[in-house]
Amino acid sequence: MPRTPVSEARKPERIGQQTLIQGWVRTRRDSKAGFSFLEINDGSCMANLQVIVDGSLPNYETEVKRLTAGCSVSVHGQIKPSSGKGQATELLAETVQVHGWADPESYPLQKKRHSFEKLREWAHLRPRTNTFGAVARVRNCVCQSIHQFFQQRGFLYIHTPIITASDCEGAGEMFRVTTLDLENVPRQQGTVDYSMDFFDRPSYLTVSGQLEAEIFATALGNVYTFGPTFRAENSNTSRHLAEFWMIEPEMAFYELTDNMDLAEQFLKQICRDVLERCGEDMQFFHDRIDNTVLATLDSIVQHQFIRLPYTDAVEILQRSGQTFEFPVAWGSDLQSEHERYLTEQHFQRPVVLYDYPRVIKPFYMRVNDDGRTVRAMDVLVPKVGEIIGGSQREERLEMLEQRMVEQDLRPDDYWWYLDLRRFGTVPHAGFGLGLERMLQFITGMANIRDVIPFPRTPGSAEF
Ligand code: ATP
Ligand code: MN
Repeated sequence: MPRTPVSEARKPERIGQQTLIQGWVRTRRDSKAGFSFLEINDGSCMANLQVIVDGSLPNYETEVKRLTAGCSVSVHGQIKPSSGKGQATELLAETVQVHGWADPESYPLQKKRHSFEKLREWAHLRPRTNTFGAVARVRNCVCQSIHQFFQQRGFLYIHTPIITASDCEGAGEMFRVTTLDLENVPRQQGTVDYSMDFFDRPSYLTVSGQLEAEIFATALGNVYTFGPTFRAENSNTSRHLAEFWMIEPEMAFYELTDNMDLAEQFLKQICRDVLERCGEDMQFFHDRIDNTVLATLDSIVQHQFIRLPYTDAVEILQRSGQTFEFPVAWGSDLQSEHERYLTEQHFQRPVVLYDYPRVIKPFYMRVNDDGRTVRAMDVLVPKVGEIIGGSQREERLEMLEQRMVEQDLRPDDYWWYLDLRRFGTVPHAGFGLGLERMLQFITGMANIRDVIPFPRTPGSAEF
């Protein structure tokens, strides 16, 4: 008999059916009347299935009455209507087979609740908790929603390389990839001889697939990437990982406003899908993690995002009467305290900031006619701050070369990127959404390490 997920077995239409469920015991309670209740979870949903095991089963005394949290079982029996609170059905066991015991003396996930910090040390066990089960299901739903959003619009899913020799964001922040012997690095005239290295040149883990996505957008129209991204930024914050997942659409013939429209529709669709498909998990986040998450998602879906030039944002911040740790001045990057003031207090909804100072943004962003600003856009949301960074790209060859020189990059290193402007150049635009920031926003989980299965942060890569 095939296994029925608990999510199915809980449905009233299953009543009367012979069913096999397989999962892990959450709790066992024994009744004085000679039978036991088991709560079984199999990850298919937040809720458990209640199983009634009668004392007449042959292994009742020897096995069933020794079951504790974490034991794995197969239970076969008939689904009955349940009079219990919060459940329409329960399973009346005819057989209970124990697959694996979990010694209550040493199994860490006993009744006691552990902090998220503690659970990070048990990355191999935390998916068995309600919170991390819910995170995994919502993460899955968001990924599905992302692909659906782009596929329905005819975007092509492109795989950009994970190992790269180009540095999209400017120096720093990159992990090296090498097969050189670190104990004995080959040198020539004092510097490292990369001709001895695997790729004959310095190479890195990618910080963004954008430049390669542009290659495909300027051939095929609308494309997107969705893959792992690596940044060796040594910032131990609750919003930065060394390895995270990024979604980067890139669209030919898009200008900045088209880019903003797409980003807004995109975020709204994800929120709508999560509300529709993850009701039970979202209710859990609302009840146990952050009681604003449901209202926030509703409000995202319903209201238009604010669109505000960087220059106006600086003015608002300067006039706010707030004392910020970092003072605001035109020409400096906004800090997360500024982003949060705009989204949480001033506007109380997402804000798309655009037209940033040229000097603080990368070379590939299109220079505005004023010469001082570029067609950049960041989408800021309450609690998380920046969730999307994007821009219209510089499609003019000379200007692009000038911008590279300005930022101490050698145009020759980017000859292939410049070729896209040399041959049939088009206006185009794109953005990057950090998957984990989106998940933090949706679930209300305070630390980004708790919305990715295996967080990579400075000093931490055990699991
Ligand atoms: P921040 O200023 O917050 O470090 P950034 O300006 O470096 O972000 P971008 O280079 O524009 O970010 O990257 C696009 C998106 O990728 C960001 O909006 C964010 O959602 C996500 N992101 C960037 N860096 C990280 C990181 N270290 N960990 C997780 N997500 C990140
Ligand atoms: Mn960053």
